[in-house]
Amino acid sequence: MSSNRHLVVRCPFDDSVYGTVPVTPPEQVPAAIDRARQAQAAWQNVPVTVRARVFRRLARLVLDHRDRILDTIQSETGKARLSAFEEVMDASRAARVFAAEAPGQLRARRRRGAIPVLTRAVEHNRPLGVVGIINPWNYPFNLPASDSAQALLAGNAVVLKPDSQTPFTALLLAELLAEAGLPDGLFQVLPGSGADLGPALVAGVDFLMFTGSTATGRLLASACADRLIGFSGELGGKNPLLVLADADIAAAAAGTVRAAFANTGQVCVGIERAYVHRAVYEEYLTELLAEVSGLRLGVGYDWKVDVGSLASARQLATVSAHVMDAVSKGATVLAGGRARPDLGPYCYEPTVLTDITEEMLLCREETFGPVLAVYRVESDDEAVARANDSRYGLNASVWSARRGPEIAARVRAGTVNVNEGYAATWGSHAAPIGGMGESGVGRRHGGHGLLKYTEPQTIAVQRLHPIAPPAKVGNEGYAKAMTLGIRLLNGVSW
Ligand code: NAP
Repeated sequence: MSSNRHLVVRCPFDDSVYGTVPVTPPEQVPAAIDRARQAQAAWQNVPVTVRARVFRRLARLVLDHRDRILDTIQSETGKARLSAFEEVMDASRAARVFAAEAPGQLRARRRRGAIPVLTRAVEHNRPLGVVGIINPWNYPFNLPASDSAQALLAGNAVVLKPDSQTPFTALLLAELLAEAGLPDGLFQVLPGSGADLGPALVAGVDFLMFTGSTATGRLLASACADRLIGFSGELGGKNPLLVLADADIAAAAAGTVRAAFANTGQVCVGIERAYVHRAVYEEYLTELLAEVSGLRLGVGYDWKVDVGSLASARQLATVSAHVMDAVSKGATVLAGGRARPDLGPYCYEPTVLTDITEEMLLCREETFGPVLAVYRVESDDEAVARANDSRYGLNASVWSARRGPEIAARVRAGTVNVNEGYAATWGSHAAPIGGMGESGVGRRHGGHGLLKYTEPQTIAVQRLHPIAPPAKVGNEGYAKAMTLGIRLLNGVSW
């Protein structure tokens, strides 16, 4: 059991104790933030090209230490090794791409000055100071690695509160950042529960990057609003997948299985709803069920498992409750639908359901497990309308030979993948990802992901003459001259 002095981390493979970590007492959070602030004062003056070297080295170190990272992630989350490997790939590529892009994105930019020639205006991007990051357990390595990389590249320090279930993975990231050459104090990990450490963190940092549930995101956003500090929230989803009549059905079925069951369905951008055109519905279901029947469910540190354990008893309880509720209200189970304690305490079969109705919990609530609801639709318009009929708007997937981008543009989601489930947008690190609606505010990755950790500062230098009436001209003469001048400027669209 965890106490208020230690977190006891259990391995979901067999519920054995994996390790114990001292908890940061809330009263020590301000000191950690102070240390970060002192380190940041020097770091902000390090040229971004030099900061970027740390992340080039990190990109390499993540691959060098691949197996240790995989073992640690699996021990804390129970996920399959292949799912853990997604984190390694993502963290390494993100670090490398962000290192390459940051110097250009952060560069000072000359802007049109107030008066041509006389005013020289330059926009700079200044770091915010100390960025707080709060992370969930489902991607304990790549999320903090990539969010921290952008915050640090922008010249900030980072104080990370990892999920209580996954402190060891966060500490391993800290070790790798140190090995990559990140100066002391710039990246600190504070293990402990969100309820205990959250208030002290929000009270001291200059920006909060939160990933987790919409409910917690709301709480933290309003706490940040109180302090007038920035907040970015990557929150929940109920992501749709659309299969159009012209789709490659075998590819769509295989893609659905990857998107719905990777990471045992505990993926914020994973697919929980499939809308399939009636012309291909039967063929799609046949292909889908064949794919699902080939999945290997289980636990273990080898590569033989496709779908790993759920992360905790809490996850298992939610998944079981959603499926039982749906079945009791008339849903049809086409595959799975059962816990598998014979394989691992939190294992649950990859599950496919149809005949879902509005009164079922899983119709609109995020299940966050290996459960896919399949709906037959009459037209593309119906598919789009039903995909958009959600308070969330995180990710979507469209399968079509010819009309993918056109349909994608009509879907209300921060990312839309055409002929892929989620990996195409997620892995395109130079482009932003994040949620519309109740799926979040702000973006990670790309220029948006980096610049949110900065504050723009405009420096304008006025030369030769002030922007004021010259002494000899008087107010009226000045107004006349400026009216003419502004007409001219507007005319040349300056
Ligand atoms: P959660 O309960 O919101 O927890 C996430 C993090 O917030 C944990 O570190 C937790 O700490 C902390 N926390 C909880 N209450 C807090 C509070 N009052 N103050 C400060 N911190 C607090 O989320 P979850 O249900 O475990 O995680 C799954 C959710 O994350 C899903 O909804 C999923 O969609 C979402 N998610 C979204 C993305 C995305 O990119 N959009 C990515 C991954 C996951 P402790 O648990 O240690 O107390």
